[in-house]
Amino acid sequence: MKLFAGILLLVFPVVLFSTYSESSSVPFSDKRVFTVIVDAGHGGKDPGTTGTTGVYERNIVLPIVLKINDFLSKEYSDVKVILTRDKDEFIELKNRGKIANNEGGNLFVSIHCNAKKNEENDKSGFEIYVLDLARVDEAKDITYEENRFIAKNEKTDSSYIIQRKIEASIFQQAYLKYSNRFAKIIETEMIKGSKLPSRGVFQAGFWVLLGPSMPSVLVECGYLSNTSDEAYLKSEKGQTEIAKSIFKAIRYFKMDYDFENSLMY
Ligand SMILES: [Zn+2]
Repeated sequence: MKLFAGILLLVFPVVLFSTYSESSSVPFSDKRVFTVIVDAGHGGKDPGTTGTTGVYERNIVLPIVLKINDFLSKEYSDVKVILTRDKDEFIELKNRGKIANNEGGNLFVSIHCNAKKNEENDKSGFEIYVLDLARVDEAKDITYEENRFIAKNEKTDSSYIIQRKIEASIFQQAYLKYSNRFAKIIETEMIKGSKLPSRGVFQAGFWVLLGPSMPSVLVECGYLSNTSDEAYLKSEKGQTEIAKSIFKAIRYFKMDYDFENSLMY
């Protein structure tokens, strides 16, 4: 029995590890408490996108983030969860990255909802993004919905973007493999745990992903321009299922992290 338990202990993490990882060394290995930064997009004077029923993105992503926090707090005593906002308030772009870095985050996940452009056909489902540094300069383009408010209204000086681009070219590229891994885990969990279809994992020049020096992803949880997605995203059930899926993805990513770190000490 003892031997069986020992084998289980040996095999279980390997099974989990092989489910989600490519073999590699961890570029962020240390003994700090695992810290995850969960970022509710927009807030306050920045409403984000507007749904077909008039609901604002800022008010959908906040309860999802609070639920992720609840799940993590209940499950782990050895995970520190930092929310960039826990109420409806405006947080400057710079500060989202600053909070993440000052807290020594190991993982950053930004939660958003999408909307189709006027000229596009109806779209449905969730998308997950990692940073594409080469496309950061397209960020002021209005096709980058997530950057539009910042570009128009926030006094984000270009020197900040330039400075972050230089730092990100050193750090974020090193984290990209882990960002991609985390993105794939989220996709798997959301396919299993939510009713929304996956539209895929993509790279984009989202400014919010420039700030944190750690593996970082942005989740577009669904399309508020689609009546079915919107109803699901507004519902308690939908918000809980999405939050639980992202919580599980964080849990699996941490298992990878713990496993890789255990190999190094
Ligand atoms: Zn957004």
